[in-house]
Amino acid sequence: APSGRSAALRARMEARLLSARFRYINQQLYTSTSREAARLFRSDPEAFHIYHRGFARQVERWPQNPLHRIVRYLRRRPASLVVADFGCGDCTLANSVRNKVHCFDLVPLSPLVTICDMAKVPLAAESVDVAVFCLALMGTNLQEILEEANRVLKPGGTLMVAEVASRFEDTRTFMNAMAQLGFKSVSKDLSSPFFYLLEFAKAGPPRGRPAPGLRLLPCLYKRR
Ligand code: SAH
Repeated sequence: APSGRSAALRARMEARLLSARFRYINQQLYTSTSREAARLFRSDPEAFHIYHRGFARQVERWPQNPLHRIVRYLRRRPASLVVADFGCGDCTLANSVRNKVHCFDLVPLSPLVTICDMAKVPLAAESVDVAVFCLALMGTNLQEILEEANRVLKPGGTLMVAEVASRFEDTRTFMNAMAQLGFKSVSKDLSSPFFYLLEFAKAGPPRGRPAPGLRLLPCLYKRR
């Protein structure tokens, strides 16, 4: 029936519009500072929901969700470790482990979320054992964000980073920059074509100078 056809057409147009908005918001998040991102989501809460729906659909296409790797990692370690999840999204991590998990994001997708910019989290210095960034190193002020993770981590604490593989231009320079920020490489899994999984230990405070090699490319999704 024609009405069926036009309904289908309309649904297709709507899906395309949502996907375009997702790509636009995504690009803004990767090309602005975390403070600007916070402002964007505060002024337009709908943008956040569109972003999250689009994000979830992207990750579903991957053979493996990096978050599951981090869950598995935490389950092998003592449940007494305190965790901070930077850019927690829907708090799947907190809901999957027995540990105390502090969840930080710009907008609450779950009641567990503490709303804040991840460059400035309301935690005392040296208060957490494990800091997690799962597909969440988005702002252009990466150094400030990772310095904040360093601040809240206990000496020797663990930093877990899962990031889209194509964002890394040069892994060696990135690892050197991480060392400058006080993070010693413990292990790296570069085997997936989709994401890298990097584990660091806090070796000390950041050296306090700019680490230009820290750059990550924005993750821009293709039009589908
Ligand atoms: N870690 C989750 C979500 C990843 S999506 C998972 O793996 O499923 C990236 C998340 O980072 C989004 O929820 C986004 O809102 C959040 N985010 C981006 N910039 C942020 C900022 N400056 N402060 C706090 N959260 C931020």
